Amino acid sequence: MSIIAIVGRPNVGKSTLFNRLVKRREAIVDSVSGVTRDRHYGKSEWNGKEFSVIDTGGYVVGSDDIFEGEIRKQVQLAIEEADIIVFVVDVEQGITPMDAEVAKILRQVEKPLFIAVNKVDNAMRDADAVEFYNLGLGDYYTISSINGSGTGELLDAIAEEIPEPEEDEEKEELPRFAVVGRPNAGKSSFINALIGEDRNIVTDIAGTTRDSIDTKYNRFGFEFNLVDTAGIRKKSKVKEDLEFYSVMRAVRAVEHCDVAVLVIDATRGFEGQDEKIFWLAEKNRKGIVILVNKWDLVEKETNTMRDFEATIRQAIAPFTDVPIIFISALTKQRIFKAIETAVEVFENRKRRIQTSKLNETMLEIIEHNPPPATKGKFIKIKYCMQLPTHTPQFAFFANLPQYIRDPYKRYIENQLREHYNFNGVPMSIYFRQK
Ligand code: GDP
Ligand code: GDP
Repeated sequence: MSIIAIVGRPNVGKSTLFNRLVKRREAIVDSVSGVTRDRHYGKSEWNGKEFSVIDTGGYVVGSDDIFEGEIRKQVQLAIEEADIIVFVVDVEQGITPMDAEVAKILRQVEKPLFIAVNKVDNAMRDADAVEFYNLGLGDYYTISSINGSGTGELLDAIAEEIPEPEEDEEKEELPRFAVVGRPNAGKSSFINALIGEDRNIVTDIAGTTRDSIDTKYNRFGFEFNLVDTAGIRKKSKVKEDLEFYSVMRAVRAVEHCDVAVLVIDATRGFEGQDEKIFWLAEKNRKGIVILVNKWDLVEKETNTMRDFEATIRQAIAPFTDVPIIFISALTKQRIFKAIETAVEVFENRKRRIQTSKLNETMLEIIEHNPPPATKGKFIKIKYCMQLPTHTPQFAFFANLPQYIRDPYKRYIENQLREHYNFNGVPMSIYFRQK
């Protein structure tokens, strides 16, 4: 899937544009799972082309007095990680020195680049936009992120650059794991521990996206692909000190995997960046396993593990039945368990429940605890089924589906999770008219 990065200096309207690009789709996706956790990463679709959007500005700390160096890193990273770049400038301000600086970097880029002259809220400002030819980046699009004018044309042009979706992307039967996490969490140590010195590599096959590589491994009797990206392997020009570095790095790998193996550093706890990557995987409906690495460094008392686990589960609520495994890449403690669990999650994600069995179980549960009546109307759920999708999705047919509220949806999800093994797998539940 193509990744679109929005770059530009602060206050030009990047996040306003981001919201406009992802909103419609977001409403659909997130009505299912609840909240949007990351306001800077979203998925969207235009003219039948699906894509991810990243507002790189959102990951840079500081606002007005942001350092030029930060912007340069932001742009550099976007160039390395994205497929398409949208450079936003502000017609009210005209070309600033920082814009010129960014333009200089972008001039060398060979990826599709779009200049969006923002805040062109009316035709009068159209004329003012002409000065942006001086950026030396060629043609531009005039848009108003606030009222939406021009954004359709911009999206049409962007969609042209997005390749047609791959046929049957999921036909590969081997599990695809992406090892993701913050810098220094121990990802490479884990991978080394996993594949060992002898590197049981069967074959290197080029992935479906340009920059990603699936490498096939055969370890501990399991066959799987590790999803890596060229970005992770090559020495990046960007130092790993940016807060959003690991999130950006994870996007492509996560989108391309079946199960995201999220490595966190036990000595640092479950932090903001870990959470962002977690919700990145959840939003993409990928299986998730959390590995708490460097467990050898933690001084343990009776409840240390239990408490640690509880903290994580609290942070990822309500999606709490995600396997959490305490490992040490250094001593290889529970390395096998980690990979075994990832394979289990892969299987869970493919799980299909027979319609007759599902109805037998769920209708009885629903009968004992039906959705509460709303506005004096009784809601009756008559039938349910798992949809024939790649990830677990369930439809419940009711007389008045519009009156069923989120808490009941969560109750249903919990019941499904209790009766069937969907550990580590995001799940969607829909109520439909019958
Ligand atoms: P960012 O820092 O680049 O993400 O910029 P924001 O999206 O936060 O926008 C900065 C300011 O510009 C906010 O006050 C927005 O309301 C305003 N803004 C964004 N887009 C437009 C637009 O199309 N027209 C006008 N007039 N204002 C805009
Ligand atoms: P990455 O950036 O996520 O790939 O992290 P690395 O694998 O490069 O590890 C970062 C640092 O943590 C290195 O110095 C490793 O030796 C150390 N490290 C990784 N895993 C463990 C572990 O399980 N225990 C201990 N004590 N150190 C570890």
